[in-house]
Amino acid sequence: MSNREGKLVIVSGPTASGKSTLWRRLVARPEVSFSTSATTRKPREGEVDGRDYFFLSSEEFNRRLEAGEFLEHAEVHGRFYGTLRAEVERALTDGKDIVLEIDIQGAEQLRRSGLPTVSLFVMPPSPEVLRNRLRSRGTENEEEMARRLSIVEKEVAARHDYDHVVVNDDFERMLREVEEILGYSQQEV
Ligand code: 5GP
Repeated sequence: MSNREGKLVIVSGPTASGKSTLWRRLVARPEVSFSTSATTRKPREGEVDGRDYFFLSSEEFNRRLEAGEFLEHAEVHGRFYGTLRAEVERALTDGKDIVLEIDIQGAEQLRRSGLPTVSLFVMPPSPEVLRNRLRSRGTENEEEMARRLSIVEKEVAARHDYDHVVVNDDFERMLREVEEILGYSQQEV
């Protein structure tokens, strides 16, 4: 693994597409490291500062933005999110791939950054499945759900800009497809 070149693996997709689960499974692999993003949204129940996100005030986020600390950033669902340069540098030093779960605007910025990237867009099998998944997750209120669903169309239209589109019809199947794309050995099940 020592002479492998680390790359940025970008994972995007509509809300409740399964991209977070994919991200969690990938970062558990030995070839992979991760970067903790910063956000101005409030923590959900069970989320831990510094693990799930660095939860920042708008003032702190802006201060860091002006100081050039973000590799990319975007406003999503009315909140700010960004990848910290220091986090990526920390993760890249050990020659691992870094999997970033970021929105379509951030993905565009990283593709233009000159860093080696592989981008993956996760599609839900159908709009109904997506709505049901979001409901059963139960972490968003009606207003927040409506806000998230309203940008799905725009997000899905951006899938053509990605290197690979993968469909989450069966999670384990999709995971194997992604591992193959990234050149990772298949794990024993
Ligand atoms: P959530 O609030 O559900 O954790 O994330 C909402 C959206 O923000 C998701 O589409 C997620 O991919 C995106 N996101 C999370 N972290 C980052 C980041 O560092 N940069 C960008 N551009 N988007 C992010």
